[in-house]
Order: sequence, then structure tokens, then C-alpha cells
Amino acid sequence: PSGERLPLPEAHDELRALATEFNALLSRQEEANDRLRRFTGDAAHELRSPVASIRVQAEVAVANPDPELSQETLVDILTEAERLSALLDGLLSLARSDAGELPPAEPVELVSEARAALDRLPAGSPDARLSGVTGQVWAWATHAEVELVLSNLLRNACRYAEGQIVVSVLARPSMVRLVVDDDGPGIPPEHRERVFDRFYRVSGDRARASGGTGLGLAMVAEAVRRRGGQVQAGESPEGGARFQVTWRAGR
Ligand code: ADP
Repeated sequence: PSGERLPLPEAHDELRALATEFNALLSRQEEANDRLRRFTGDAAHELRSPVASIRVQAEVAVANPDPELSQETLVDILTEAERLSALLDGLLSLARSDAGELPPAEPVELVSEARAALDRLPAGSPDARLSGVTGQVWAWATHAEVELVLSNLLRNACRYAEGQIVVSVLARPSMVRLVVDDDGPGIPPEHRERVFDRFYRVSGDRARASGGTGLGLAMVAEAVRRRGGQVQAGESPEGGARFQVTWRAGR
């Protein structure tokens, strides 16, 4: 049962150290179990809402064979189905990472990846530019990881920016850094660590209404931390959000 611990024998230093270590192991195991339980519950909760919505709309469409109504309903059903599919993709990719599947890393050039990601932004996105870049900057990662980081940070920046997004890439002797700044409402300090948690949202309604899954930043953090890198949310000079990602240098 949870909470039980080995007694620490007074007179035996070695036994005492062993028991202490064993108890710490138990605590870590219990924490991992709690996290998993919470995650499974959250995931089920998140999956339930698009499924319920699809079901209700389909029931309405079946009960009202009006051709115009059903067209509208179909569009709604499609939107919810896409959301469901994005959620499942995210859950699968996190599950793979949890299972410890780690494709080999290689040097990945951040400046060209950032340019490509900016070029892929849909028409009508806020103005987004690359700043202060000289030469090539190599990170120790995979292309898929860097792409995932860039696409998620840029998608969020586009969602919140008023009109300006700035991407910077910096090289230090043993590490490299990607910074994405926007001029949106920013993230209040008390939420800055938790936005990387699975399903965590600062303002649930807004992100959910715009199709967010609450998994984007969790996937970013996972992709970076599993290579020994770091992610951080802060404030941009314009007062909006700043996301910083640090990798080991790839060359
Ligand atoms: P979502 O799919 O809901 O956007 P994310 O994991 O990508 O999930 O982001 C988690 C939450 O962090 C968002 O719901 C939002 O509240 C906050 N957030 C992320 N990026 C930004 C940003 N650039 N500006 C302000 N808030 C942000």
C-alpha cells in the first residue's frame, strides 16, 4: 500500500543508507504512478468532449433530415473529428517518448530549420521574422524534434501575437538557443512553468476554442528534455510571451 516505508535501523549505518535509498525509490515510484493516473484521467476527459460533440451533432442530423442543416452539422463534426485526431496524435507521440523510444540525434542546423518553419506559416499570419542571425547554428537533436518545436512555438505565437513575432537563434560555445518572442498578452509568471504540463492551459476557453489540444508545449518540452536540453517561458521585450529552447551544440 502507498505511503509505507522501511524503518531506518539506528545502529547500522549501511543498512540505514540502504533503507533510506529504498524509501526514496518508493516515493519516486508513487509520484510516477500519481502522474500517470492524473494523465490518464485528463486524457480521457479531453477525448470525451469532441466525441460527445460528434455524437450529439450526428444524432441531430439523423433526426432532422434537412439538407442545409446537415451540411452545417457535417462541418462541425469534421472540425471535432480533426481535434480528436490531433489529440490522439499528440497522445501517441508522448506515449512513444514515455516508452523511451529515442531515435539517434545528429547535428541539425537551426537557422535553415527556422527559415523553413517561417515559410510554412499560413497566409494571413502575423508578421514573423528571423533576427540577428550570423552563420550556421547546429543543435544536437533530430530534424523531427526541431520541426516539432518550431511549429508548435510558432503556432502559439501566431495565435496570440498582436502583429509581431521575432525568432532568434544564438550560438554559445557548448550550447545553442532558439528564442521565439511575440507581442501578445504574454503568460503571467505563476503559469510559466505549468504551461509545459500536459493539458495545462492559462485560459482554457480561448485556446480550446481555437482548436488547441493543450499538448503542444508538453510535446516541445519532452522533445527537448530527452536530449538534455531545456525549455523556458518568460516575457518578451515587447511584453508578450518569450519561449526559449536550449540544446547541446551539435558541432
Ligand atoms: P494549446 O494547444 O492549448 O495551445 P499548448 O501546450 O501549446 O496548448 O499551450 C498551453 C497554454 O499555454 C495555452 O493554452 C496558452 O494558455 C499558453 N500559451 C502558449 N503559448 C502562448 C503565447 N505565445 N502567448 C500566450 N499564452 C501562450
